[in-house]
Amino acid sequence: MVVAKGEWRIATLGSHSALQILKGAHDEGFPTIAICKKGKDKPYRQFKVADEILIVQEYTDLFKLEKQLKEKKAIIIPHASFVQYIGHEKMEKLSLPYFGCKKILEWESNRDKEKVWLTKAGLKLPKVFAKPEDIDRAVIVKFHGAGGGKGYFLAKNPKDFYKKIKAHPGKGYVIQEYILGVHMYAHYFHSPLTGETEIMGFDKRYESNVDGIGRITARDQMVLPQEKVDPSYVIVGNIPVVVRESFLPRFIEMGEDVVRESKKIVPKGLWGPFCLECVLTPEEEIYVFEISARIVAGTNPYIHGSPYTWIRYPEPMSTGRRIAREIKIAIEQNRLKEVLG
Ligand code: ATP
Repeated sequence: MVVAKGEWRIATLGSHSALQILKGAHDEGFPTIAICKKGKDKPYRQFKVADEILIVQEYTDLFKLEKQLKEKKAIIIPHASFVQYIGHEKMEKLSLPYFGCKKILEWESNRDKEKVWLTKAGLKLPKVFAKPEDIDRAVIVKFHGAGGGKGYFLAKNPKDFYKKIKAHPGKGYVIQEYILGVHMYAHYFHSPLTGETEIMGFDKRYESNVDGIGRITARDQMVLPQEKVDPSYVIVGNIPVVVRESFLPRFIEMGEDVVRESKKIVPKGLWGPFCLECVLTPEEEIYVFEISARIVAGTNPYIHGSPYTWIRYPEPMSTGRRIAREIKIAIEQNRLKEVLG
């Protein structure tokens, strides 16, 4: 692609949802840059989504590229790898144009702050137990900064908790009520230009080994070593889901409530893509156990659009493309500042 002088480009780290983000940017006419860790650049070359590939040793080397990226008029699109490998504190120091609200990353990264935000938005959250002695029902024990649910375990009472925690000495954790139901990850996009919070799609996660345990009988589970059958929640993929239509009004309101409340906690509030991670129970309750305040990998099955974006848009509209569309409209309307954090 020949880049016109002064033209904006879309840049992101080569991982997580970068294929989607860069493809979406191309669809909207932006030249693209992938910043890849050495040895991880193949997909971005093979799928031809990046007009330029910059190789770094570590993702934090993004800061060394600031001058170069500024000259190229690159707008950074964040995804989970920015939060996981660079961290929200460092990200706040990034001086490059950035799509979304940097300040909100702290609220999604800190479980206590996240709880305050979502509770104020009126969402139903699993109960959190302050100490192991209080456990009076099935709980899931999550480690701080675990990322992807590695080593999380279930416990049914304090005794069970103390037995299982032995395998994780010194780790910080949170004890959360285990909600029995089905998982549903709701993807949203909030446009600061129109003020609307759009439903982009839903997914469920494919997690190892919790999604594999059911493939063997209870008899065989009994003879396997304990550590093989203890459920673990390491995410390995995402599966598209369409939600029962009668749930939609609630999901739409939940997204709107989260955005409304975000404006009270950080200037300008949350905008762009975000995801509510939910469990739906047989009583038709929707519990939210986490929010991701940026694009989630669960939108990756919808590179050609989801059933919902297909209803709304005349062309295939992925979340990645929706981001680029928002930037494009903002540039056209001379409102770019409103979408950059
Ligand atoms: P990520 O940052 O990738 O979202 P994480 O380390 O923050 O991962 P969670 O998403 O909170 O972990 O949880 C991992 C998995 O554990 C979920 O995908 C879900 O399957 C399960 N899970 C988490 N909390 C609950 C809960 N309260 N009740 C039932 N299942 C839960």
